Amino acid sequence: MIVVFVFILGLFIGSFLNVVILRLHRQESFVKGASKCLFCGHRLYPKDLVPFFSYFYLKGRCRYCRQKFSSQYPLMELATAIIFSLIFLNIAPNGDIALLGLKEIAQIFDWWALAGFLLIIFVYDLKYYLILDNVIWPALVLAIVVNLFLGFIWLDLLLAMLIGGGFFLAQFVISKGRWIGGGDIRLGLLMGAILGYPHILTALFIAYVLGSLLSLWLLLVSKKGWKDKVPFGTFLSLATWLTMLYGQELVNWYWSLFL
Ligand SMILES: [Zn+2]
Repeated sequence: MIVVFVFILGLFIGSFLNVVILRLHRQESFVKGASKCLFCGHRLYPKDLVPFFSYFYLKGRCRYCRQKFSSQYPLMELATAIIFSLIFLNIAPNGDIALLGLKEIAQIFDWWALAGFLLIIFVYDLKYYLILDNVIWPALVLAIVVNLFLGFIWLDLLLAMLIGGGFFLAQFVISKGRWIGGGDIRLGLLMGAILGYPHILTALFIAYVLGSLLSLWLLLVSKKGWKDKVPFGTFLSLATWLTMLYGQELVNWYWSLFL
């Protein structure tokens, strides 16, 4: 039952993340100011802002000027709600919060917050081909502090950050900055701080499998050539989230294919 509340919370957080992405892009404060329609500037009221449902109720259009909203908004809200529920059920499988200790509760909030940062990186890099430093640094500090509290060994975290950052730094140096940007290096550091060693390796592997599959598909339908920009941050954030939740299961499954 409580997972229903978690799902609804996720819808609202997803709605907030949409606002954060929009206002980061327009370099506005995302805590101050009322929500306005992007097209006509009409103030939006709570009845226009019910996450997920108002999009369908209004048939994806502004109530005032009838311009179409991006389908990113309901998709983001739904994705956040599903991810929040999966995280909650991963840590509290029977949905009973009375059985949770302080560390489990800290982990739920930590993973929710990190999933929020990763969702912003995912969408922002896909839309604008940019990984923002003011998203990376707070996430990095949060990941390190909470992981140390949860009992990670600091040397494992440091090693993982060196591997994650170093992996992209090496490619940056070899390609003279043509394949990847500085944002990918800093995202590599963050991946290490979130996952620790050895799961940083799992995440890098998953990211490259996802990236290769998508590139292959894009080549086959000939929408994009190799020279086109690839939003690495999108693959990396998805791979980080998958590893965060299912890293051990994915490793076990992978080895079972060969044994
Ligand atoms: Zn409007």
